[in-house]
Amino acid sequence: MHPDPIRLLVHGASGRMGQAILRLLRDDARFAVAAVAARTPLAAGEAACLAPDALGDAPDFDLAIDFSLPEPFEAVLRLCRERRVPLVSGTTGISAAQQAALDTAALDIPVLWAPNFSLGVAVLEAVSRRVAAALPDWDCDIVEAHHTRKRDAPSGTALLLGAAVETGRGRGPAYASLRAGDIVGEHTVQFASTGERLELVHRATSRDIFAFGAIQAAARLAEQPPGRYGFAALMFPGL
Ligand code: NAD
Repeated sequence: MHPDPIRLLVHGASGRMGQAILRLLRDDARFAVAAVAARTPLAAGEAACLAPDALGDAPDFDLAIDFSLPEPFEAVLRLCRERRVPLVSGTTGISAAQQAALDTAALDIPVLWAPNFSLGVAVLEAVSRRVAAALPDWDCDIVEAHHTRKRDAPSGTALLLGAAVETGRGRGPAYASLRAGDIVGEHTVQFASTGERLELVHRATSRDIFAFGAIQAAARLAEQPPGRYGFAALMFPGL
């Protein structure tokens, strides 16, 4: 356990996820917010507010949490490496080159990047892998539903679950995507054979679950040596 509160840099602080993280952190004595970074100035109590071009002026911090965009993501990764502090990032849409940069940084610092910080999805990922290994000949389909503003399909989470199925049985599933109304996120991993069907379903109803999961992961990552970490393995090492 950290003797003192873990001093955080919250990067992407004015966004929906950044705001949810700052709200949940208010009641969490394990952490103190040392600085926030946002494109637009932000009132953040005692914490320093950094503009994108002033990230290097950040006061000392022990760990960064990033929910921003692929371009600013690189700046916070660079800063964490320079300062030798861990990074938790949920920024989606990062490129293969940026994934490789995460691998390189992981030689020096603990790094956790995850497209989904829901604890339920982390368990679903592990369970899907095991079911796929137990029923390798059954048909497997992943059906996901999201709000109409979501452009990418299948979702990053569906692909994450698909990779788990592939690990379990040596080949991936088929995918189907629905875009309707204001659905926060639903994922069904369906295994089907003649005469029976097994469905594993996760429904998200609030974005706070992602902020909560990222904060729990940050507390664990702060205790780890340098390396690249996965959310499910970090939170549920036995699964
Ligand atoms: P948002 O559009 O509400 O927020 C984006 C944030 O990035 C804003 O605060 C913006 O000011 C900030 N930003 C932009 N340029 C910046 C810069 N140069 N320096 C610092 N900050 C900058 O989006 P959101 O809904 O909060 O999502 C943020 C990211 O997190 C997206 O990539 C989204 O897909 C992802 N996300 C991940 C998870 C997960 O569980 N991994 C869950 C939800 C969202």
